[in-house]
Amino acid sequence: MGTAIEVRGLTKAYGDFQAVRGIDLDVDRGEILAFLGPNGAGKTTTIEILEGYRQRDGGEVRVLGVDPAEAPLSWRDQIGIVLQESEPVPELTALESVAMHAAYYADPRPPGEVLEIVGLADSAEQRTRKLSGGQKRRLDLALALVGNPRLVFLDEPTTGFDPSARRESWDMIDALRDLGSTVLLTTHYMDEAEQLADRIVVIAGGRIVARGTAADLARQVGASTTIRWRAPGDAPAPPSGLGSSADGEGTHELTTDDVVPTLHALTGWALDHDVDLSDLSVNRPTLEDVYLALTDQDAADGPTHGPGEGGAR
Ligand code: ATP
Repeated sequence: MGTAIEVRGLTKAYGDFQAVRGIDLDVDRGEILAFLGPNGAGKTTTIEILEGYRQRDGGEVRVLGVDPAEAPLSWRDQIGIVLQESEPVPELTALESVAMHAAYYADPRPPGEVLEIVGLADSAEQRTRKLSGGQKRRLDLALALVGNPRLVFLDEPTTGFDPSARRESWDMIDALRDLGSTVLLTTHYMDEAEQLADRIVVIAGGRIVARGTAADLARQVGASTTIRWRAPGDAPAPPSGLGSSADGEGTHELTTDDVVPTLHALTGWALDHDVDLSDLSVNRPTLEDVYLALTDQDAADGPTHGPGEGGAR
């Protein structure tokens, strides 16, 4: 498959504040990787270094095989960047905007096709000043895609979207996978990361604190599944091997990492003893639970926020 991004021992300080403290990161070609972390964790600093917009202090970085600090213009052609906010030229139509950007690239995608991919084909002749917020974000993505990039950086692509616009954006980002692009996605929405990413990397306090699939991360923090049920007061006690506890009102609860065998044992016992397990529920930890546990652990280990000198980036 090959590697799109390779980072070893990356460091960056602002004055005497160490914002990135020696991180390693690999992103495979064709992969969607979510880069998560609390405010001030070092995401933007890292990504700007990968994009070639910020100089690193130390470490090795290869993006599409090239050191971004010394990248030629032809390298930039292969990279699409969607920032949190951008302002298209108001008097141009959506199609004209995309066509204008296409002219900057050696091997652009046809502008009409790009509008199709991002779901803006129906608004191709609309002036950009008349586009809604959600449509403007689609146009941002179209502008990033028209150069036919092999790697796309998506910075909080759905911040401020209503729920249906978010779902539509997810379809759009999924379509990038089909085009074979590699995507590095930052987001503060855990459901978005869970839905879109092949793998997740969590940074806190300038260090990578976890990496893997959502399930790998859950294992890392030891987050178990909770099974709950209510049973009538006169029901026999559940088998002690289940390790469940009960409150005074007939609600039983257990936690397990072996959900299927545990449910099998519980429901088998209930059938054998004719016990009605009302309100049976199985709650797997969400990525949000896992993320909070991971970033809380880090907060306990050291500061995650810098002094904030220099204000905005
Ligand atoms: P957010 O989710 O809020 O965008 P982030 O993870 O992207 O946060 P960075 O923007 O990389 O975090 O910032 C990391 C740390 O470096 C923060 O403590 C921030 O205050 C500090 N920092 C960032 N840019 C500068 C700068 N130009 N000068 C001084 N400090 C900076």
